[in-house]
Amino acid sequence: MLKKTPATALRAPLAVITGYAEQHLTLALPEFIGQRYTDTPGLIDRPLVDGHVPQRPACRFCTRRAGIDARVTCWMTHDRNICLRHLLWIGEGCSEPSDQVDLSPLPATAQAQRHHHNLINRHGRRWVSLAFADATKIFSTWKERSTFGPRETITHRLTSLTRPSGEPVAADLAFAAGFHPEIIRLSGLLASDHWERTGLRKGGLAPFVREVSRRHIIKGFDPDGLDDPLIQWLRDRANHYNMAQHLNKWDILTVLLHEETTRRLTKRLRTDLRTCPLPQPRY
Ligand SMILES: [Zn+2]
Repeated sequence: MLKKTPATALRAPLAVITGYAEQHLTLALPEFIGQRYTDTPGLIDRPLVDGHVPQRPACRFCTRRAGIDARVTCWMTHDRNICLRHLLWIGEGCSEPSDQVDLSPLPATAQAQRHHHNLINRHGRRWVSLAFADATKIFSTWKERSTFGPRETITHRLTSLTRPSGEPVAADLAFAAGFHPEIIRLSGLLASDHWERTGLRKGGLAPFVREVSRRHIIKGFDPDGLDDPLIQWLRDRANHYNMAQHLNKWDILTVLLHEETTRRLTKRLRTDLRTCPLPQPRY
């Protein structure tokens, strides 16, 4: 059976051919990073090249500004959705540079980028990355079920963005950019250790649900019973922790709650306690 050659095996020959040192190639190409945990300067917080990290074109104006005419494709971390220098959407739905659209009609979307970075500083990249993916799915289900309104607001958000030619943008891009501020606010709620514990404890569901309205994620949020995607998210979390505790295998959590970037080997963040064995698990 043929085995696929690992990318790291190509680093040394490529260094000989190109004349660049292996360590410089590793800094330029995340495919050459061989460890998930490293203390090597320059490699911490670089994208982990796996099925969870999307590849998308870099901002077409930044590329042109750097004097590059060819297409530049990047391994994107989940927070790279907007070029604030050019107010251009470069996130979900942009498979070609020409898909990147001007965000002037949706100023709140551009402002949400700063909120997004504040969340990463507060809660840690791993938790915000997971929360952002979950918040996007939850919000998409709410939209399909018409959980929120009014309808004119939704239509306005979904039709505000147009390509330079005047054509409307694709539905996935319109949704991701149109509801980006609410998705970021929901990500903040899901990434919060405090609110996760509140939602999971006895009697904590009501304050957790009220927090959805208080944060202006959905005004007057009233979940659709156990079938509501946000309630289902809480139940899934409880199942993960119960399973890890029951089997006494906390490694399961590091698989389920995967990382987005390479992390430090030493001086791990305290927020990683959520995937570590605890003498008395809090959940
Ligand atoms: Zn740019």
